[in-house]
Amino acid sequence: MKITAFSAHKFEHSYLKEALSDHELKLLEVRLTMDTVDLAAGSDAVAIFVTDNGSRPVLEKLQQFGVKYLALRSAGFNHVDLSAAEELGLKVARVPEYSPAAIAEHTVALMLALNRKLVKAHNRVRDLNFSLDGLVGFDMEGKTIGIAGTGKIGSKVAKTLSGFGCRLLAYDPYINESLKAELEIEYVDFKTLCTESDIITLHLPLSSSSQYMINSSSMEDMKKGVMLINTSRGALVNTKEVIEALKTGKIGSFGMDVYEEEEDLFFEDHSEDILQDDVIARLLTFQNVLITSHQAFLTKEALEKIAGVTAFNLNCWAKNESSPHELKGG
Ligand code: NAD
Repeated sequence: MKITAFSAHKFEHSYLKEALSDHELKLLEVRLTMDTVDLAAGSDAVAIFVTDNGSRPVLEKLQQFGVKYLALRSAGFNHVDLSAAEELGLKVARVPEYSPAAIAEHTVALMLALNRKLVKAHNRVRDLNFSLDGLVGFDMEGKTIGIAGTGKIGSKVAKTLSGFGCRLLAYDPYINESLKAELEIEYVDFKTLCTESDIITLHLPLSSSSQYMINSSSMEDMKKGVMLINTSRGALVNTKEVIEALKTGKIGSFGMDVYEEEEDLFFEDHSEDILQDDVIARLLTFQNVLITSHQAFLTKEALEKIAGVTAFNLNCWAKNESSPHELKGG
């Protein structure tokens, strides 16, 4: 089978080549867009990433070029028009879960690095400045952590932080009973979570109800100096309003692995460019903001799983079988 993989970054090449070694695989660094869709001509299937464009016009072009299968190398599928895919007879499958541990561990890494000011300390020591002034952190033990969303990732974060001796609060319309049985975790409403937490971490999907849930009004309820961590989706946070709260000290520190305008910025080397995004530019001026470029998932184990499940989905289709990971039209 001929497969074209768009947005195939160097870090995943070896995993994709190994998992799809039975097929004719073309790895392209470029994103799938209306400008690049022609590169899929003659392929039976395309494999795409979260930053690729799966809108109706792109899908129509893919179908005209003979593509019949869209293998998503992600759990999220809000970048693909599923109704259009169904109408066009394009099958779509995803990787529903790769490594919740990878994202949970990166979340905790952001918390610890911000709390103990590791980036500042490292830069200082490299400069032969061994003073400790300005590096005071706080004990995690005994602090209250508010976890919004206690699904696969949020529950792993809860388990890790329970080992630190933290008090755990959760906000989720669905109560995770097995987590509650295992840990001391209290389900509360969002306002209580905001009011009582020393650290707030987000682990829920982006939807019309969750968009901008972190805004000037919800931040009003928070403790002064609260730490905010977002490894879920950028638009859960109103970034401009968070900048205002960082300026007053209401938000004490902010760790972000995702950004609402990340499509044109993250995953690429822009070191030779003039930064056009004034919001990111302002965030980069704060010592108490730590930004990573959507890398929470980036572990060896997660990449093996993403490549392996992508190959499984495609192999099911090659054998005329349906994969349990196929998505139906919207
Ligand atoms: P999941 O589906 O297992 O859990 C999500 C939880 O959020 C569920 O328990 C659900 O009930 C809850 N929820 C839904 N809407 C809510 C709302 N409005 N308020 C409160 N809770 C709500 O998902 P998961 O695998 O734990 O993933 C969580 C998020 O992590 C994903 O939505 C995705 O955006 C993000 N993610 C990020 C990366 C990364 O590399 N940074 C990688 C994978 C996933």
